[in-house]
Amino acid sequence: MLPTSKDQLLFTPGPLTTSLSVKKAMLHDAGSWHWEFNNRVTAIRQRVLAIAGLRQEDGWETVLLQGSGTFGVESVFSSCVPRTGKVAVLSNGAYGERMVLMLQALGIDHVVLRTIEDTPSDPVTLDQLLTADAAITHVAAVHCETTTGILNDITALGQVVRRHRRSYIVDAMSSFAAYPIDFAAAGIDFLISSANKCLEGVPGFSFVIGRRSLLVAPEGTARSLSLDLGAQLKGFEKNGQFRYTPPTHSVLAFEQALNEFDAEGGVAGRSERYRTNHATLLAGMRNIGFESYLPAAVQSHIITSFRFPKNPAFTFDAFYRRVANKGFILYPGKISQADTFRIGNIGRLFPNDMRQVVYAIGEAIDEMGIKLRP
Ligand SMILES: *Cc1c(COP(=O)(O)O)cnc(C)c1O
Repeated sequence: MLPTSKDQLLFTPGPLTTSLSVKKAMLHDAGSWHWEFNNRVTAIRQRVLAIAGLRQEDGWETVLLQGSGTFGVESVFSSCVPRTGKVAVLSNGAYGERMVLMLQALGIDHVVLRTIEDTPSDPVTLDQLLTADAAITHVAAVHCETTTGILNDITALGQVVRRHRRSYIVDAMSSFAAYPIDFAAAGIDFLISSANKCLEGVPGFSFVIGRRSLLVAPEGTARSLSLDLGAQLKGFEKNGQFRYTPPTHSVLAFEQALNEFDAEGGVAGRSERYRTNHATLLAGMRNIGFESYLPAAVQSHIITSFRFPKNPAFTFDAFYRRVANKGFILYPGKISQADTFRIGNIGRLFPNDMRQVVYAIGEAIDEMGIKLRP
């Protein structure tokens, strides 16, 4: 097959469609030991802090860590929770459940507070749990649970955590830079996100934002060498370098992605585009007869779940292939309660792209002989 002039667009939870200029930033080799590259890494760590509205002078740091977002979340558990610690996980989807798997693998004591997939994590139940169980040292929550696109109220949850004087870990993988996050109001101690979500870089590393005093845990806390956040931070402080081979090309792409994030107007500009993408998608999909899964009040502008049409001629696989052949990559659903598929609103996508994917979906449904409207 001949190469085409452009890539298919990714309507996914990540990795996402990136700009041509972000991809072009990778057409260079960078020496991991060279001061020029390491100065850029230092600047990137500061720029991420600034996006979070935090300052190094106040004791905050950003640690970049090789690997995808999951590595970043696991690094917080494995290197910052004391051996005697106990973690309460708030879960309403696959990423909350992944935290539970990490804690099991690490042998860390934990308890899980589950809500069903269309229901946000509940501050009142959390309050009761923390009152009842003094052994809990840390609470872990997911901001946007990308499994469905539901938004959890990390500020209301965090205020409960703070009242009980426990530490607070937030997986903001798919929301950081696309929603304003007030660290002080939410009492966040650790926040994790990655290069290839709403900052629109390419995969290669995650980052953890936290207080230096907590990132550098007492000697003997870390259960992993390569995921040791405190050691990674000390490495950056010593010589500006990643410990072990850095994802050099991904770092160069991320620097360009940050420039483009600034040019778009930071969190305000980016969240506005995503909000418009989401509204455009939802209106278009409803217009052709699709139903979204979540109640509007808890739906984020990150990703949207749609119910399968109630028609025996519909199979996701056949539908997906047809839409992919038209140039649009959708994402399967991942929930247990309903048959759904997902359409992401994030990455370098614009409202016109959302109208085009809706048009392609309408065509695919017609071709499959499915009528969504009487
Ligand atoms: C993407 C994502 C992750 C990390 O997934 P990776 O595949 O490891 O990058 C974790 N949590 C949430 C909420 C996510 O959206």
